Amino acid sequence: MLTDFGEKIFKRRIKKPKFLDYPLRSLKYLLLGFFLYSIFVAMSVTAIKVFLDSDYNKVADIKMFYFFAEISRFSFIVIAALFFLSIIFRGFWCRYLCPYGALLGIASLFSPNKITRNVNSCTDCGLCTKVCPSFIIVQKMKTVISDECTTCLNCVDVCPVKDTLHLQTVIMKKKFNKKYLAIAIVAIFIIITGIGMLTGNWQNNITKEEYLHHQRLLDSYGHPTDSKGLEELESRNGE
Ligand code: SF4
Ligand code: SF4
Repeated sequence: MLTDFGEKIFKRRIKKPKFLDYPLRSLKYLLLGFFLYSIFVAMSVTAIKVFLDSDYNKVADIKMFYFFAEISRFSFIVIAALFFLSIIFRGFWCRYLCPYGALLGIASLFSPNKITRNVNSCTDCGLCTKVCPSFIIVQKMKTVISDECTTCLNCVDVCPVKDTLHLQTVIMKKKFNKKYLAIAIVAIFIIITGIGMLTGNWQNNITKEEYLHHQRLLDSYGHPTDSKGLEELESRNGE
């Protein structure tokens, strides 16, 4: 929405040169690597368990609320900078900095479902490339293999030639109907959350009284993943 607004003001799409775009895109993968390293390499199984059971983690959502409700000047400047950069560059946060975006990028790269172009019927009109929010040159590809493709289907919707651009499973060469795709996504969501609910893993077991107790002590809880905090919690756990 921010970039749509920006494009109205600037009356054009702003695209960064490749020599800037590629290194910036790698930042989110570095951040993802940092988080994966911090969790799966730097922390022992005991440390992860201790963290999950810590008072800090029990009220991490309240802490996150106060992070925004009583925002520091530095955080405000960072968020404001991201806001304005997103007006100029489409998906600035998702494309360059978001570690979750990196995870989705990897999933997209290895997904068996790809946007596929019929080169014989394509008229090379360029509409698909023009509407792609990820700046992929769709009109030059037979199959879109890119970590930046979000399967938004903008390109498919805009293609004026019937049966030229579609989403299909690479292995079975079967076309996906958009309607069934939407139904499948909703069904997967319901099944996963339903399993969580039926197996009693959806709600945590923190009582309201415990929440209120922790809220009073909120400011005394620091992030326990620094070595001192974890050692303290591990030893408390041992006792
Ligand atoms: S599905 Fe969306 S992101 Fe992927 S190539 Fe088409 S327009 Fe671009
Ligand atoms: S919109 Fe369709 S016809 Fe036009 S270039 Fe893209 S694939 Fe080819």
